[in-house]
Amino acid sequence: MTSVRADYVVIGGGVTGLAAAWALARRDREVTMLEQAAVGHLAGGSHGSCRIFRLGYEDPMYVRLAGQARELWAELEYSCGERLLHPAPQLTFGPQMTEVQSAMTEAGAPCHLLSADEAAERFGCVTTAGEALLEPDSAVIAADRALTALATCARPGERVHALTGTRAVALADDGRRVRVRTSSGDIEAGRVIVCAGPWTAGLLATAGITIPGEATLEQVAYFAPASPAQPAPASPAPATPASPAQAGGPGEEAGSQGRTTPIFVYYGGEFPYGLPVPGTDRYKIGIHRGGPPVQPGRQHQEPDPALGQRIERAARSFLPGLDPRPLAVERCVYDNSPDTDFIVGRIGNIAIGSGTSGHGFKFGPLLGEWLATLAADPAGGAGPGRSWAAGLPPSRFAPGRF
Ligand SMILES: Cc1cc2nc3c(=O)[nH]c(=O)nc-3n(C[C@H](O)[C@H](O)[C@H](O)COP(=O)(O)OP(=O)(O)OC[C@H]3O[C@@H](n4cnc5c(N)ncnc54)[C@H](O)[C@@H]3O)c2cc1C
Repeated sequence: MTSVRADYVVIGGGVTGLAAAWALARRDREVTMLEQAAVGHLAGGSHGSCRIFRLGYEDPMYVRLAGQARELWAELEYSCGERLLHPAPQLTFGPQMTEVQSAMTEAGAPCHLLSADEAAERFGCVTTAGEALLEPDSAVIAADRALTALATCARPGERVHALTGTRAVALADDGRRVRVRTSSGDIEAGRVIVCAGPWTAGLLATAGITIPGEATLEQVAYFAPASPAQPAPASPAPATPASPAQAGGPGEEAGSQGRTTPIFVYYGGEFPYGLPVPGTDRYKIGIHRGGPPVQPGRQHQEPDPALGQRIERAARSFLPGLDPRPLAVERCVYDNSPDTDFIVGRIGNIAIGSGTSGHGFKFGPLLGEWLATLAADPAGGAGPGRSWAAGLPPSRFAPGRF
């Protein structure tokens, strides 16, 4: 058994951990990142082709935070030279649509209410069966590419030492340093950031820290147009992104929004959602918080037929131009907090980023920035080369609220 010293250890190589390592590296800090499997592995919550980036929440706080996250995504795109967020309009409808509209209006985010006829005229491939809220600044995140970008490009000065296939087994914080027992030896760390998704509560318990967490095993399915005559989903994006200064508004593809198959979110009730897969003619559909509870270490990838039927029903109802027989099905784990707000804070020398509750990918770079600030820079400075500071997370996310 070896024992080494490290200033910062990040535990978890999902979007949150990778973003935290990136944020620390940008502050010139040396980071050791531990991932029990491989980046993008099937049992984590960050794998798969794509995620929705939306400003549309029923709570103005999340609308504003999504705007901040957008700026950090632009920085990542710029430093990696790759488009990761593919602009795509979003249609929100359903029982909570008006709450989303109010929150977006209060937060100053652009949105327009469309009548059912206007929605049908502009986005005929989606059946809204009523008014719909059009969000022009949403996007599809190329999730797998984003993980690769964070894991490979975003390492200024190679300051991140990634140990994949290495599991943190136990933590002990003596007030000065944290001893991290791993599957390949001990590490004495100055600060530890734990963003282990649904494994977070179990790992923190070894350090005497209690946080809640419930994992659920979700399911998504990929569909193709019923006939080649159907409109194609979002087209491949340009290879070179805009500079961060140019980001934040509608992307350069915005002018083509009328031709792009939109993202849809049925907000409220069963909460089905769908999004075009960048660069393909496929469309991904899921049901938010539709899956059963699961032990994070006991997941399987077998499709659930009942969940599959609900997803196929959503495909028939909302995108009748799709062939409702899925081409592929994926399982993926949610790391749920009791109130669906994130859990972000610091206890002693351990910073915690978890509870992303099925909506955390879009906030990944912001979560990473907060965690780096909590671990390295509690004063909340902007850091080198940055014109603004994300500061500290809202107190509403504090682990002590439970
Ligand atoms: C089907 C599905 C659809 C989604 N859609 C959206 C969407 O459209 N928009 C959106 O914003 N969000 C979405 N999400 C949510 C988003 O993907 C997650 O919130 C986010 O990816 C969670 O990232 P994470 O890094 O916190 O956790 P994870 O990705 O789970 O990463 C945690 C990592 O820690 C590692 N780990 C755990 N324990 C240890 C240990 N002891 N030692 C070392 N490593 C360890 C794990 O192996 C894992 O890789 C979706 C999620 C799913 C499942």
